[in-house]
Amino acid sequence: MKRLLYFALLALVVVAGVLLINTFRFQKAAVYNGTVVEIPNNDSAAVHLSNAIQIKTISFGDTLAIDTAEFTKFRSFMESTYPLMHQQLEKMTFNQLSYVFKWKGKDTTAAPYVLMAHMDVVPVEAVAESKWTYPSFSGIIKNDTIWGRGAVDDKASAIAIMEAVEKLLKENHVPERTIYLAFGHDEEIAGKRGAAIFSKWFKENNIKPAFVLDEGGQIDTQRFKDAGRPVAVIGTGEKGFVNIDLTVEIPGGHSSMPDKETAIDVLNQAIAKVRAKQMPAMITPSVGELLNRTGAAQSFFTRMVMSNMWLFKGQVISKLEENKQTNALVHTTIVPTIVKAGIKDNVIPSIAKATFNSRILPGETSEDVVNFVKQAINDERVMVKKQTISLMEPSATTPTDHPAFKRLEGIANSLVPSALVSPYLMIGATDSRYFRGFSEAVLNFTPMQDAKGFHGIDERIGISDLNRMIAFYRQVITLQ
Ligand SMILES: [Zn+2]
Repeated sequence: MKRLLYFALLALVVVAGVLLINTFRFQKAAVYNGTVVEIPNNDSAAVHLSNAIQIKTISFGDTLAIDTAEFTKFRSFMESTYPLMHQQLEKMTFNQLSYVFKWKGKDTTAAPYVLMAHMDVVPVEAVAESKWTYPSFSGIIKNDTIWGRGAVDDKASAIAIMEAVEKLLKENHVPERTIYLAFGHDEEIAGKRGAAIFSKWFKENNIKPAFVLDEGGQIDTQRFKDAGRPVAVIGTGEKGFVNIDLTVEIPGGHSSMPDKETAIDVLNQAIAKVRAKQMPAMITPSVGELLNRTGAAQSFFTRMVMSNMWLFKGQVISKLEENKQTNALVHTTIVPTIVKAGIKDNVIPSIAKATFNSRILPGETSEDVVNFVKQAINDERVMVKKQTISLMEPSATTPTDHPAFKRLEGIANSLVPSALVSPYLMIGATDSRYFRGFSEAVLNFTPMQDAKGFHGIDERIGISDLNRMIAFYRQVITLQ
């Protein structure tokens, strides 16, 4: 008995020792002490963004027509606002409304960079319009802030890129390597007419970008409060996307004499079974790195947890699962988004259908999702089929030791020295996904801080954010 107690005590001491050693070996978050870049004021850029917002380049929906006159107006706006860019860069047009500009570099043998932004915006619902502080497409500038749909997503990026390029052209700058500027016109409806097409052009012409930069990560001062510092998150990979259709066919009949089970009942149960469980939790490399880097800036206890994942992984995952945003970082999500059955109140339908939308973690595939759904349902009456038309397997992840990530990290810190820079996993999809298959590095970041109202009410951006973004693209173009 005494011996047993002795061993238990010894085990406890060893565990405590390992915990402490790991905690002390866990590096504290680095403090940036490199060069700091001055951010010049640029009031005309704010006016340009305001003008851009007033042009209603709306993507209404996948099957709904766009107002091409507005997109043409946007093209004229670009031509008149950024004349040097149009005179000196080679411009290619795809599907009439998406553009790629080529800025030839000194070394044409070096793999090029691609800077991306999309020109389209999501619509403003009629019911939401009255909730806006200023009319949604007014582009009004008040209190050093530019207001309106697209201020954040993603006209600020488009304007910031063009401002930086125009200014550098004025200074007769020639980039070291060739730089492409790629502006899609349908990112908000999956980019099939824009980015999907121009990325194909790159591929067909054997142009393998060394680095593709698109919207996505930002500087966040709200979500990582415990870190005590702003966190600049750079998207290094994207979740995949698959729709899965469920179909149940059972002869219907008159609603006055229902069978024990109808097509709707069976479908209902199938949906409930899928929703009752989640696919297993997984900490992917980019999320692991995010936890490490933000954890390193936190309390001794948090550092102990983060440096001893062999013991605390379960607790960390449970904590992340509490919130829908962080839950989506550690799980492939599956949710029904369309349910269809029935045509008349007194007719039991003989067919019932549902569509599940799934966002797949890197490391898993659409086939894994299909298998999970089939196993969860375990009912032969339910036909499970994945759609192939919108299928996108999870992307490759750009590693943090890639030179492009390191360079972007340095640039982010040179503009916001207090920021802690970290990779993260993109939950939503962007146009840059079309480049992931054949580019060395694809990163998603713009240095705007706590962006407000994107896809929602009162979308707006501070002039200081816009100026920081212009300085950022300038650094990206000139520091190679
Ligand atoms: Zn966007």
